[in-house]
Amino acid sequence: MVFRRVPRPLSRISASFMKKLIIAIDGPSGVGKSTLSKVLSHELGYLNLDTGAMYRAVALAASRQGIAAGDYAALQRLCDEIVIGFARKDGAEHVFLNGEDVSAVIRSPEISLLTAAVAACPEVRQAMVARQRELGAGGGVVLEGRDIGTVVFPQADVKFFLRASAEVRGQRRFLELRAKGVEVDLARTIAEVEARDAADTSRTTSPLRQADDAVVIDTTELDIPQVLERMFAVVADHRRRVERSQPE
Ligand code: C5P
Repeated sequence: MVFRRVPRPLSRISASFMKKLIIAIDGPSGVGKSTLSKVLSHELGYLNLDTGAMYRAVALAASRQGIAAGDYAALQRLCDEIVIGFARKDGAEHVFLNGEDVSAVIRSPEISLLTAAVAACPEVRQAMVARQRELGAGGGVVLEGRDIGTVVFPQADVKFFLRASAEVRGQRRFLELRAKGVEVDLARTIAEVEARDAADTSRTTSPLRQADDAVVIDTTELDIPQVLERMFAVVADHRRRVERSQPE
């Protein structure tokens, strides 16, 4: 996705009501969640929590230890043992597994597919959701994932659900991976996006689902600045409504 400088409508908002919000961004893979959540959190001065990276780190640890995606008892033990961390380095967000920077390796197509399978394990979800709630409880956070507005923080202040056609999402993923020097095939990348969609929407525990009170944005025909403009407007509108409802 192309990234241009973003308009900053929030800088015009009154500073009198700076309650630290919990903002949820859910949607399928390749819809632009990561980029949008990074910019939104940065502009608001909030923590950015990429919950997909947590499930990816679990999948990587499982694959290294030879644990099958269906072995729920072993996955539960694994979640108790591993330490997943985040840190900003040179302006970019990095993910750590037991202290090792795994930011690049968790994005491979193999780990992406394995992640969708590992994320179907209820014990893994329970462990990740508990950690996400811990990290986000104080507010001032943008969480991106699949179940943030429905399960992790159903009481989130602002919820977004992003959509885009599988073809467009596959194409975005293809360009992203190619830009990183990864050898990929377009048709295969689209098929993988569809396979992950199927796994994420059909699992029994916390399937990908739009929260009833989420603001839905279809990003098929929009670029990042256009989507951000809408998101900032929604956040500003939420704050205005909160301010109006507060006693003088
Ligand atoms: O967002 P990302 O594509 O990195 O997520 C990787 C995988 O992690 C998803 O396909 C999904 O299976 C899983 N996931 C999840 N719940 C979340 C975030 C990600 O199940 N909140």
